[in-house]
Amino acid sequence: MIVQMKKEATKKEYERLVEFIRSKNLEIKDASSDDVVVFGIIGDISAIDPSDLYAFEGVKEVIRVSTPFKKASRSFKKKDTIVKIREDIEIGGDQFVMMAGPCSVESEDQLRVIAKGIKKAGAHMLRGGAYKPRTSPYAFQGLELEGLKLLRKIGDELGLAIVTEIPSADLLPLFEQYVDVIQVGARNMQNFHLLKALGKSTKPILLKRGLSATIEEWLMSAEYIMAGGNENVILCERGIRTFEKYTRNTLDISAVLAVKEVSHLPVIIDPSHAAGRWNMIEKLSMASMAVGADGLIVEVHHDPEHALSDGAQSLKLSKFSHMMDELEKLSTVLDKKLK
Ligand code: PEP
Ligand code: MN
Repeated sequence: MIVQMKKEATKKEYERLVEFIRSKNLEIKDASSDDVVVFGIIGDISAIDPSDLYAFEGVKEVIRVSTPFKKASRSFKKKDTIVKIREDIEIGGDQFVMMAGPCSVESEDQLRVIAKGIKKAGAHMLRGGAYKPRTSPYAFQGLELEGLKLLRKIGDELGLAIVTEIPSADLLPLFEQYVDVIQVGARNMQNFHLLKALGKSTKPILLKRGLSATIEEWLMSAEYIMAGGNENVILCERGIRTFEKYTRNTLDISAVLAVKEVSHLPVIIDPSHAAGRWNMIEKLSMASMAVGADGLIVEVHHDPEHALSDGAQSLKLSKFSHMMDELEKLSTVLDKKLK
């Protein structure tokens, strides 16, 4: 971190600031010239928030030169993290992991039909919401515990690992019992109480990017989980809110490249919630593979017209199967392993 003092700053103001910085076990490295007082702060700067230094009179500018996240940072760990879901499913290596399934678990029959279809097409994991975060309190809220049990049952029946969203920290013991990967929804990305609880979980966490979160905020949320001791975090870009209304959200595909530069964590894409339209999913999925994402999470429904949530963005089983064939062709060019 670099600090520049105002021209009119007094010696006393400077000394008060230096005393504060040293009290945090940090060192000062002076880089002043004749007419400007500038210094670097050296050490574990996570002890101070750069913006707090503006509370000191005489401070003109504070510039952060390192990232505020540590464990999630590429400079902390150079090698890509590979999150092992089970013996045959790893996210972050050569494998391109496909998670697919309905937006919501609606019934045993519905889940089985969809799970069989995605399995046949080559998916590795079954997704499905049991506790649904809906904008309207009158919309379908999910089957809750029954939904978790159905996911476990059908996942086991077909050999698919399961991923589903946790709505709050008090449900963690249930999720530990039933789920392979715990999803944090976009709306909960900054639920720090939940993130801290997940830091103590033994399960990998799929952390979706918040609706309007910057990449740094997203990685700080990953840091919360990692700081608690759980380093198995998979990031998921799911579209962000912009001025554009044509699609449900704007898929920030460059976020994959940005994350790979600054972090070692794997990152997957959810094109379904990004586009909000089924007819865009195949091409966005191919773009995701091409840009270097580690996998996808895609909504699929056997009867999208009657889905209880997100039918408009759900692929029919035949369309999903077609998409998997297209991705398989692309994977051979990109040296990725899909099926
Ligand atoms: C979901 O995956 O079903 C979901 C609600 O996604 P998001 O949190 O990204 O909106
Ligand atoms: Mn959905």
